[in-house]
Amino acid sequence: MRTTDSKFRDIQTLAEFANLESANVDYFRNNKPGFVPDIWWTMPAFFSETDKRPLVWQLHQQTLQEAWQARFPLDKCVKLIGAGTFPYKAIQDLTAKQNIVAPELANAEFAKTTVVIPSTDPRYAEVLALATTTLEMDPAGLAKYEAVYPYMQAVMLLATESWRARFCPFCGNRFAADIPARRFCSDKCFQESRRRYGNAMWAKHGKEWRSSKKKSSTKRTKKGSK
Ligand SMILES: [Zn+2]
Repeated sequence: MRTTDSKFRDIQTLAEFANLESANVDYFRNNKPGFVPDIWWTMPAFFSETDKRPLVWQLHQQTLQEAWQARFPLDKCVKLIGAGTFPYKAIQDLTAKQNIVAPELANAEFAKTTVVIPSTDPRYAEVLALATTTLEMDPAGLAKYEAVYPYMQAVMLLATESWRARFCPFCGNRFAADIPARRFCSDKCFQESRRRYGNAMWAKHGKEWRSSKKKSSTKRTKKGSK
């Protein structure tokens, strides 16, 4: 059974995923294997509202960011959890069988010119037919592709404990709060913010503080207090 700690770590990882930039995908993918379906990292989304198709992870990251902003409303949570049940992996395995390699599917030019997997190419048509057959005829065979990914549990937890989904007021990153009083994503941001706030206050009130310090310093020296 997963411990409360590991559940919280999943929420932290979800925040990392929500903040993730393309340049750091390899790092995240290697360090959190299986957090989301692996196929998300390389496969372009089948459907897109624009003609430029994002990769699957980017599509769902967008939804996640909207959910974070809106404090995990139920409709977004259902959409996010449902996203992991789409049989990308089944389709990937079938495409591998048909000798269609992932880079071809993830190719930007290819992605730009296609809205769905093109059915004019006989190899793709076959793959789609196979995928459809698998979906309709063999629920038992498909079961091996059904998995509960850690990201799903994190989304569910945030649906019930949405106060944990925060934005750091200093760096702007999304982060998971362990206690309700947590305001910053890290000690570093807390310290930096305090330092800057201190500097700003000093710039504003420094003059009067300095003069009041002069007045009071004589008193303190006499008393010899710290
Ligand atoms: Zn921060």
